Amino acid sequence: MDKLVSLAKRRGFVFQSSEIYGGLGSVWDYGPLGVELKKNIKERWWRSMVHERQDIEGLDAAILMHPKVWEASGHVAGFTDPLVDCKHCKNRFRADDPRIKGTPGQPDAQCPVCGSKGTLTAPRQFNLMFKTFMGPVEEQAAVIYLRPETAQGIYVNYLNVQQSSRQKIPFGIAQIGKAFRNEITPGNFIFRTREFEQMEMQFFVKPGTENEWFERWRAERMKWVEGLGIRAEKLRWHQHGKDELAHYAKDAYDIQYEFPFGWQEFEGIHNRTDFDLSNHQKYAGKKLDYLDPKTNERFVPYVVETSAGADRTTLVVLCDAYREEEVRGGEAAEDGGGEQRVVLKLKPSLAPLKAAVFPLVNKDGMPELAHRIHDDLRRHFNVFYDDGGSIGRRYRRQDEAGTPYGITIDGQSTQDQTVTVRDRDTLKQDRVAADKLVDYLTQKLAG
Ligand SMILES: [Zn+2]
Repeated sequence: MDKLVSLAKRRGFVFQSSEIYGGLGSVWDYGPLGVELKKNIKERWWRSMVHERQDIEGLDAAILMHPKVWEASGHVAGFTDPLVDCKHCKNRFRADDPRIKGTPGQPDAQCPVCGSKGTLTAPRQFNLMFKTFMGPVEEQAAVIYLRPETAQGIYVNYLNVQQSSRQKIPFGIAQIGKAFRNEITPGNFIFRTREFEQMEMQFFVKPGTENEWFERWRAERMKWVEGLGIRAEKLRWHQHGKDELAHYAKDAYDIQYEFPFGWQEFEGIHNRTDFDLSNHQKYAGKKLDYLDPKTNERFVPYVVETSAGADRTTLVVLCDAYREEEVRGGEAAEDGGGEQRVVLKLKPSLAPLKAAVFPLVNKDGMPELAHRIHDDLRRHFNVFYDDGGSIGRRYRRQDEAGTPYGITIDGQSTQDQTVTVRDRDTLKQDRVAADKLVDYLTQKLAG
């Protein structure tokens, strides 16, 4: 994992937030390559959820919502973790922290940080929502929260969306947006962060049909994840046991990936029943039922949710793509004997940079032709120009960036207007006419 974190920094995927001040705990910034990778994943999700389907609409609800939303949703009362404080060193732990020896609150309990005995308090419930104040007065009545999930923005808008788009149940609403949780034990790089981005879709169905839709969405979502190019043996389902279910869920399955730190979820499919809509109806005093135009029945819909972490999915894609390999043959020799390489074998359509353009040397008309090709290509793809260092070095840098194609302009290029295209994974080189490069790459990047 350390190797991936250091590559992420070196190549500009992910930096620690406020690094020059020593960093801010478990908050991360996406650099030039990271923002492209995450954007490609989000766009792929949006395309498959919203554009390619007629029964799902998009939404972008605000992060700040009426505080009553979080009472109705159960987050004010129930979105808590049991925590333990050390009275000596002031550190705070989850009550189930495996490093704690003994029973917190009892004299035998030992603090995992300072080692004191008997200084740990009995567990207390701690709300995970970030609280702030709206308006100029910092008083109880002005308290609002940074949303801990994007789903509620969808629920309170479901009739607005349904009526304005003239959808009929069953239909869904999809949203990508930031959410915030004041996690006490965050960690594992961008896996568990206090500010994160969700890709959530809430599918509204007639009561009694939710199990069937639940199974359909499980199948759909696994297909989408596999479409990211993730190795199948690194993926599995995990069904929540009774003690794992969130306060709103009747049934829940996670898609887990085998990270370097173990199997962990990065997407969940949840049967949320009519819990949220019924509660909003109660707390807001507004009817949220749906009138079926065919049968004239009125009902509060059930909700099947698919909830994916954009950051976690990005981490899955990065972990799965990371390889250390031995390079043999011609390229190793060009490289001056550096036979080890680190490469991100990203699916080409997800890669931040689609190609890099290299003049073999900075003379004999090669830079001029290379610049012309670069200008032409960047109207179609995100491409990179690099004329620094040996060609082997330049290949290695792009391998680490996950760039699938390297285009080299050499002595022959200035004679016959052809270039070599090097494939990141096979290291094979094709000779391609410069004016056919757009077609060539378009074909390779499909899928
Ligand atoms: Zn302590």
